[in-house]
Amino acid sequence: MSKSNEPRVVIIGAGMAGILSGIRLREAGLEDFTIYEKAERLGGTWRENTYPGIGCDVPSHIYSYSFAPNPDWSHLYSPGAEILEYFERVAESHGLIESIRFGEEIVRCEFIRGRWMIETSTGRRDEADFVIAATGVLHHPKLPDIEGFDSFEGACFHSARWDHSVKIDGKRVGIIGTGSTAVQIVGAITERVEKLSLFQRTAQWIAPQENTPYSEEQKSGFRADVKGLHAMRREMAQAFHEAFSNGLLDANSPQMTNLQETCRKNLEENVHDPELRERLRPNYQAACKRLVISPNFYEVIQRPNAELVTDPIECVEPAGVRTRDGTLHELDVLVLATGFRVDRFVRPTEVIGRGGVKLEQVWAERPAAYLSISIPDMPNFFLLNGPNGPVGNFSLIEIAEQQIGYVLQLVELYRSGACREVCVSSDALARFDAERVEATRGTVWSTGCRSWYLDDRGVPATWPWSFERFCEEMSAPKLEDYELVA
Ligand code: NAP
Repeated sequence: MSKSNEPRVVIIGAGMAGILSGIRLREAGLEDFTIYEKAERLGGTWRENTYPGIGCDVPSHIYSYSFAPNPDWSHLYSPGAEILEYFERVAESHGLIESIRFGEEIVRCEFIRGRWMIETSTGRRDEADFVIAATGVLHHPKLPDIEGFDSFEGACFHSARWDHSVKIDGKRVGIIGTGSTAVQIVGAITERVEKLSLFQRTAQWIAPQENTPYSEEQKSGFRADVKGLHAMRREMAQAFHEAFSNGLLDANSPQMTNLQETCRKNLEENVHDPELRERLRPNYQAACKRLVISPNFYEVIQRPNAELVTDPIECVEPAGVRTRDGTLHELDVLVLATGFRVDRFVRPTEVIGRGGVKLEQVWAERPAAYLSISIPDMPNFFLLNGPNGPVGNFSLIEIAEQQIGYVLQLVELYRSGACREVCVSSDALARFDAERVEATRGTVWSTGCRSWYLDDRGVPATWPWSFERFCEEMSAPKLEDYELVA
């Protein structure tokens, strides 16, 4: 193979998917790559989110790389700091740190004469044959459109920007939102604060979560039997796909019926005051919104120092939050657990493809990508966990692992000399997306609720097919859907 067929690759982001990309490129014998990371530390979402109670609600043995099982996970669902340490350890043990440029955000990528010209926030210029955007999905905090935030005299921050210099012990703390984040925070801080006010716009179905720690004996058993650990991991993943992922695709599936019943029982058996129970009861199907799981939310929200506020928020005032019934909820700290702008992906990076086509134009209506990976007129530019992928279906790690395997097959076309440029055709993307939209109709996400899974048309921006279909699609690119330029 001639040297000129060895591409240079630039990876955007040193989170879970960026680290994975570096490891996989190196395994494929591709040494010429750089990972650009805007922050001073790797870890993506696990670096940015440090709120009390943060953890992953996908079992840790599944939420880890297939090639780096971790016998030492402390819990079935391990806390965020432990997950961050895991990613750091994997990156270090694979010698990846020297390939990461920290503190440099890629601000612009332009495809000129067959190569991507790259510009970073420090003014550095780089060039690459391929760009892999591993920027994550939930990384731009969404601030609520509520009047008066600036006038608030206490401390106020978004959950993904937790201000650890602010004391919460013995304080009056308000939390806006009832998603996975808010529920974890409530579970972790209520016993520490003087008063907790949870501002709920929409009730959430909550599935119970048992999170017993792994014993030392179990961990040494995992260490001694790595083959067994791999097998357990595979079994857990398969059970997850069967009991949950594949059930999401049919709102009337037995899995969804069971889940609904589990959530209903959780609410009815654990919330004793009938009035509070009804205020906590959602009026839509479980798993229509991203399912929340919690070991203690219902117990904690019934404590004497906790208050569920369901009257709509009118405004924020210097002393607290005023609700529409006229009540002023006096607060020292206000936490905005209000979610993320989920349509950003690689943006705000300016991406300009073949013939000056701007990503901003291509995505003017809404973001789209073929198999959530490739975009027309953006040759040799691939996204991991891009638009309309299985973000709510499977572990994001197993998705990214399969996607990078797919992307490497496209890179291989370049290495073998089959082409210099490869990206999906507009027709193939249009066909794929029409089929995808059609397939979302019977899914649980389409049963009528407000959720971040829905795009601006109310169509689920997700993968509406099974795990098996995902694996099949990822196993080999259908080259007839791609434009190859020699
Ligand atoms: P989210 O699920 O988008 O929830 C945002 C919450 O804020 C919702 O309850 C929403 O109410 C409320 N909200 C937004 N704007 C509001 C306003 N103007 N007034 C009142 N309430 C408002 O965000 P999140 O909880 O940060 O979770 C985002 C995603 O991150 C999750 O779905 C999950 O995928 C991921 N996550 C995962 C874990 C994990 O353990 N793996 C933990 C945390 C987060 P409505 O429901 O009425 O819109």
